[in-house]
Amino acid sequence: MNLVFLGFPGSGKGTVSKLLTDFTQISTGDLLRKEQESGSALGQEIAKIIDGGGLVNDQMALKLIEENTKENLNYIFDGFPRTLVQAQMLTELKGDLTAVFFDFPKEKLIERIVNRRNCPSCGQIYNLVLSPPKESNTCDHCQTKGLIHRKDDTEEALSKRLKIFETEGKKVIEYYLLKGTLVTINADQELDKVLAEFKRKLNLP
Ligand code: AMP
Repeated sequence: MNLVFLGFPGSGKGTVSKLLTDFTQISTGDLLRKEQESGSALGQEIAKIIDGGGLVNDQMALKLIEENTKENLNYIFDGFPRTLVQAQMLTELKGDLTAVFFDFPKEKLIERIVNRRNCPSCGQIYNLVLSPPKESNTCDHCQTKGLIHRKDDTEEALSKRLKIFETEGKKVIEYYLLKGTLVTINADQELDKVLAEFKRKLNLP
C-alpha cells in the first residue's frame, strides 16, 4: 500500500512517517536537502528556493519520486504532491492512492516550527519544548551531535510556505477528496493518539 501524507509544514507528517516502520518514507524535502548538501550547481539553486520558502518545479520533484520509488515497497509520500499537477503525475505513476490529511490548526504552527530541530544524520525530528532530545543537542537515535534548525523554519519562510499550502495544497486535498480516497486525522493531539487514530482509520495493525 502506498500513502500520501498531506498537511501544513509542522503538522507532524514527518514524525509519524518515521514511526511507521512497515513503510518506506519518501520525503522530497529530505531528498532536495541532500542535493543541496552535495554543493552541486543544482544544489545551490535548490538551496535558494528552499530557504526562501518557495517550491521547486514539478518536473524536478517528480524526477526525485521516480528515481527513489523503483522498488516494490510500501511507500509514504511525505511532502509530495504539493501541487495539483504533481498529484495528477503521481496518479499516472502509481495509480490511485490513499491520502492522509494531518489536520492541525495554523495558529499553533509557528511555535512548533521555530522550536523544531532535526538530526543532520538520520533526520530524526525534535521539538525543544514538546519532545527534546535526552541529551542537549544530541540525537537520541544515532548520537550525532549538533542538531540543526532548518533555514526555512523561520517565521518569514514559514509564512510563505503556509500561503503556498493554503493555495496549492488545498487543491491537492480537493483532488483526493473528489476521488474519495482522503482520510483526515486530528493531528492536534498527543503523538500516540495521532498514531492510534491513523491506524484505526486506515485499518492498520
Ligand atoms: P519539507 O521538508 O517537506 O518541508 O520541504 C522543504 C522544502 O523543499 C519545501 O518548502 C520546498 O521548497 C521543497 N519541496 C519539498 N517537496 C517539494 C515538492 N513536492 N514540490 C516542490 N518543492 C518541494
